[in-house]
Amino acid sequence: MATFGNLSDRLAETFKNLRTKGKLSAADVDGTVREIRRALLDADVALEVVKEFTGKVRERALGDEVSKALNPAQQVVKIVNEELVEILGGQQRRLEFAKKPPTIIMLAGLQGAGKTTLAGKLAKWLAKDGHTPILVAADLQRPNAVTQLEVVGAQAGVPVYAPEPGNGVGNPVKVARDGVKYAQQKMHDVVIVDTAGRLGVDAEMMKQAADIRKAIDPDEVLFVIDAMIGQDAVATAKAFQDGVDFTGVVLSKLDGDARGGAALSVASITGRPIMFASTGESLDDFEPFHPDRMASRILD
Ligand code: GDP
Repeated sequence: MATFGNLSDRLAETFKNLRTKGKLSAADVDGTVREIRRALLDADVALEVVKEFTGKVRERALGDEVSKALNPAQQVVKIVNEELVEILGGQQRRLEFAKKPPTIIMLAGLQGAGKTTLAGKLAKWLAKDGHTPILVAADLQRPNAVTQLEVVGAQAGVPVYAPEPGNGVGNPVKVARDGVKYAQQKMHDVVIVDTAGRLGVDAEMMKQAADIRKAIDPDEVLFVIDAMIGQDAVATAKAFQDGVDFTGVVLSKLDGDARGGAALSVASITGRPIMFASTGESLDDFEPFHPDRMASRILD
């Protein structure tokens, strides 16, 4: 994964230096922690996350588990791995399906974050697993958003509920509500509702998303965030958490050449799990997110 290339290299270098030492002194530990801290900050990980992370690593690295270890350097790597899994959310979190279908999944995020693409990816993935999803086009902000969702739906081989001319055009809350009703009537077991974003966080958009949430009472609200967004990740994620609240995070564009900071900050900052990763423009470039696998990739 291109995103973490530089961070991985930096951490590998740090650990290589550590391996040449036998027992580790407090100064060795401090030096290592300092290098990890710099590497994370250079990867655009949020400062508050870096502080918490390095604090825990340092405390554990100075403790018994390292001083008594047969191979102290290896033990430090193990600690860093475990703490990375922690900031990435710990356990893998799967979608929660409603006891009484349909399961309603609402997507939220900035414009260009990758919501519409994700709607198609998620629908295709669910259909492959035996579900009968339908997409609802409640993004009425961008002129071609409805058409784009229809294209994505056709690619995924799933139907799309879109506002009919004269009925609900301009009222995304009504479209979302009608779409869910339609899905119930047609016995779809999952409804994925695409909503509008703006280029930046904006009060009107946030209110619209909050109104849609209230109207359809979704089982999951997935906040889609572009992994390339860098230091803006924290403010954006917090704004969406306050404005709409979400149950899980989807990281998009993890295939990009960004530094990956958003990926490493957002779960820890919001306390919400990263549930999926989007890794390209094709509908198959999508996978459930596993914190432990991601940590291993970073430390590979
Ligand atoms: P929305 O405005 O949030 O609905 O975002 P879109 O789904 O329209 O995505 C914006 C752009 O990003 C489109 O050109 C997508 O093809 C592209 N895109 C979406 N997800 C990914 C991804 O995971 N990787 C890459 N490289 N591009 C993506």
